[in-house]
Amino acid sequence: RAKSTGRDRCAVFDEAMREEAMRILDLEADLRRAINVDGFVAFYQPIVRLDDRKIIGHEALLRWRHERRGLLLPADFIGLGEDSGLIEEVDWLLYRQAIDQLARTDSGYISVNVSPRHFLASDFADRLLRMIDRAGADPHRLRIEITEVALLDDVPRALRMLRTLRSHGVLAQLDDFGTGFSALSYLHRFPIECLKIDQSFVAGLIGETQPESVAVVRAIQALAGTLGIHTIGEGVESEAQRNALRELGCTYGQGFLFGQPSEDFHPALVRALVP
Ligand code: C2E
Ligand code: MG
Ligand code: MG
Ligand code: MG
Repeated sequence: RAKSTGRDRCAVFDEAMREEAMRILDLEADLRRAINVDGFVAFYQPIVRLDDRKIIGHEALLRWRHERRGLLLPADFIGLGEDSGLIEEVDWLLYRQAIDQLARTDSGYISVNVSPRHFLASDFADRLLRMIDRAGADPHRLRIEITEVALLDDVPRALRMLRTLRSHGVLAQLDDFGTGFSALSYLHRFPIECLKIDQSFVAGLIGETQPESVAVVRAIQALAGTLGIHTIGEGVESEAQRNALRELGCTYGQGFLFGQPSEDFHPALVRALVP
């Protein structure tokens, strides 16, 4: 009796695993197809100066227009893409859109996200610079966003990559800052343009976790000050968060308060606002 219950449970478990495996295979096949039919689009979210909301740039965020499942967010498929190695191809599709967008407009910067493994691929900088060149875009207006993981895995290689990119004008921002190892002793060695304060700390500035979040943001601001770089608060949703960030010395912000990620880039607005 106990045995057969065990077997039944196994059967149920197997069935669930089989379905999960099928779902993943399905999505992977869809991913391959979508790469060929322009299923991926860049959405742009403004990055503003906290004082006066002046737009200084946009972050390009990947979206997948799935034929049956609708608009998918990175969280729905990036893990899958990383496992299958397909995400790098998807990234290049997005970088091309962002770079073309830059070439069509004449001010403000666009930042693109680069996953750690992709960043450390030996041809990453060359391929990116070639793409910028071919599009006739200004490399100074493209930024990459990487996380600390990308820096610490292979420090000499990461340094080479950042220096090559910077020597051609492409600056790097450190994304989700405060959530990684934050190996502070290493940071000054890397040519980093700014620290993006992770949205969890921005959210925490209001409410129960306020003391801890304030302490973290203060520490990040002090670090940025020492390095002589600026910060961008991520995930700013309320005026209270905006004000708290300003009081702590953060100059720039990004979040639903200023604008949702959207397919429209509003280049006219950027032209009007950024000298
Ligand atoms: P991230 O680079 O930290 O991007 C910021 C995320 O916060 C975006 O989520 C954005 O939509 C969301 N966000 C912006 N403002 C607010 C706000 O006020 N409140 C809240 N709760 N969220 C806000 P998204 O677009 O879902 O992207 C998630 C992550 O996926 C990104 O985090 C980035 O790590 C990755 N990603 C996005 N696009 C690409 C890409 O083209 N390539 C790669 N490799 N990764 C990407
Ligand atoms: Mg980012
Ligand atoms: Mg981030
Ligand atoms: Mg994030």
